Amino acid sequence: MNFLDTDIKYLPGVGPQRAKQLGEELAIHTFEDLINYYPFRHIDRSRLFYIHELSPDMPFVQIKGQILSWEEAGEGRKHRLIANFTDGHAFIQLVWFNGINWVRKQYKLRTDYIVFGKPQVFGDHYSISHPDIDPAESLILSGMKMQPYYSIPEKLRKRGYSSRTIEHLTSALFKQIKAPLPETLPQQLTQRLGMMSRTEALLNVHFPQNAEVHARATYRLKFEELFYIQLNILRFTRQRQQQYSGHVFNRVGETFLTFYNHHLPFSLTGAQQRVIKEMRADMVSGRQMNRLLQGDVGSGKTLVALLVMLLAIDNGCQACIMAPTEILAEQHLDTFKGFLKDMPVRVELLTGTVKGKRRQKILYGLQDGSVNILVGTHAVIEDNVVFKNLGLVVIDEQHRFGVAQRARLWRKNTTPPHVLVMTATPIPRTLAMTLYGDLDVSVIDQLPPGRKPIQTVHHYDDRRETLYRGIRQQISLGRQVYVVYPLVKESEKLDLKNVQDGRDHLQQIFPDLRISMVHGQMKAKEKDAEMQRFISGETQILVATTVIEVGVNVPNASVMVIENAERFGLAQLHQLRGRVGRGAEQSYCILVSKYELSKDTRRRLQIMCETNDGFEIAEADLQFRGPGDLEGTQQSGTIFDLRMANLAKDGQIVQLARDEATRILDADPTQSLPENHLIWQRLRELGKHEIDWSSIS
Ligand code: ADP
Ligand code: MG
Repeated sequence: MNFLDTDIKYLPGVGPQRAKQLGEELAIHTFEDLINYYPFRHIDRSRLFYIHELSPDMPFVQIKGQILSWEEAGEGRKHRLIANFTDGHAFIQLVWFNGINWVRKQYKLRTDYIVFGKPQVFGDHYSISHPDIDPAESLILSGMKMQPYYSIPEKLRKRGYSSRTIEHLTSALFKQIKAPLPETLPQQLTQRLGMMSRTEALLNVHFPQNAEVHARATYRLKFEELFYIQLNILRFTRQRQQQYSGHVFNRVGETFLTFYNHHLPFSLTGAQQRVIKEMRADMVSGRQMNRLLQGDVGSGKTLVALLVMLLAIDNGCQACIMAPTEILAEQHLDTFKGFLKDMPVRVELLTGTVKGKRRQKILYGLQDGSVNILVGTHAVIEDNVVFKNLGLVVIDEQHRFGVAQRARLWRKNTTPPHVLVMTATPIPRTLAMTLYGDLDVSVIDQLPPGRKPIQTVHHYDDRRETLYRGIRQQISLGRQVYVVYPLVKESEKLDLKNVQDGRDHLQQIFPDLRISMVHGQMKAKEKDAEMQRFISGETQILVATTVIEVGVNVPNASVMVIENAERFGLAQLHQLRGRVGRGAEQSYCILVSKYELSKDTRRRLQIMCETNDGFEIAEADLQFRGPGDLEGTQQSGTIFDLRMANLAKDGQIVQLARDEATRILDADPTQSLPENHLIWQRLRELGKHEIDWSSIS
């Protein structure tokens, strides 16, 4: 057995009870799990300070000295223990608010200790509350320079665990490691890239001598993590290409041509033409298309999807498009029906609310092939939805739809359908390489002609008259207005605006106007009816929550007001803004926020006012928030469970990892070279915890 697979209970200082606690709270079950529990920071303990050197802005300091006396002060919750501590020249107070008896017993008077913590000024003296205290010799003997800090969940803290506990356990574990740990990367790779061995890297990520060594250790571990992700994705992609053939769509037939020549109300933009060509090339190749279509909101992706679906029909196949919400699915249905008019193409809608006889009829139509295009939500991937001959699946705006879920679609036909994923949320390259690393990419980088860039302004809450005047003016020009709120109804906890009060308020300001309202707590039917009133122009204002975020298309709407804009992330603001600027008129986006804003938030709103470029916004967003927060990357338990690497910051390493993985696959396509033996074995080991790609057939 591998030493690192040893049950954690056998580590000196652990035992069955702690093993249970570590397992439950930190998922540490084995030696390896403990070693992989990395510290979140290190503190430089190579320098001792004198008390007279302290200043209030210092983060953490350590001071060597002795406790001269104990004192207790304060009543009730302010009751505290004070140690008068001296470095031989000046005094400082050490303060504890709990664990008082334990602390008093633990430390002796007039004994050398090293005290560690954040100094604070109180009147004329400094104090440190709840300091770490070590016997002076132990620290000096161990020669420690950088002390690791581990995060400890509340439950374990209550049981007496601290960062120190983990530090001691990890250090005890390293003492047991007598020989180098099995490598997880071949030596010729680590050597060529100048990287540490695994053993060295693991040791130094916990107990480095200095920051530079720590950085090198981190680099090796990040690389390893990203390398295996890339290797997995690329191997999977190649395997898929070899194993599966794709439908060949080599006919441009009557359906496509009739639509293109007689129904299409405008000419395609150059970018639309180009991406259609790219897709056609895939679809005549005899291999399955797996393509990501990126294009900013309003760039005309839906139309591209429709054209490609018509190609599928011309080649004897059915097509299906999946939207993230019912509203959007319904809108796609309307759009397609509107475009296709009297053409003999049967389009049906399948969502969770389509039930009973209606549903049965559609299901039959799919099986006998009479339904040509199915529009729907997730409901369409359920196993009881069976197609006669599905040739193309379009996935619209669904970031949660990862590699494995896409793979599920393949079962829908003996020859797997072509897959087109569309997104308006521009995905920064490094993230795309990971999240959509198995897809080819097409980009629509051009908006239909005549669009004027949306003007975005930021208003503070207290300047509403100007805002209302602007709304009134636009409506008197015949346009429509969206107003978006963060909440559905009043909340006791959150001081934020809500849709329901918003509607009442706006109705008072504009007694003569008609207002629609949609939010996530309404029944689909009501939501629909309200939405329809706005689309048809019966209502001039639509108040809504972010349910309208993606895809809703009302070209006559020219104003987007976002209340409590400070509460929304950049990507979301950009999506919301994309609801306007879809017609030929000048459109506006007004971000309304409170006055007190953090620096980051102010910057965020400023970026929105400065640019309409979705890619710029996505990059900024990634920097602000980190990829963990980005929609769709929280697929825990899958390849995005990164321990070490950060997709926002480690773009270069992602690229390096991808290059190296490509090189290995090119040199060793059958996965049989002895020098790579270790790599394939490791990949299999890691695979145990991941999606089983191979079982998908
Ligand atoms: P996306 O899905 O990329 O956000 P849509 O496909 O909804 O964008 O298109 C936005 C609007 O632009 C729709 O009203 C659509 O009919 C229109 N449109 C699409 N392509 C063109 C084009 N080439 N010329 C003019 N208008 C277009
Ligand atoms: Mg769209």
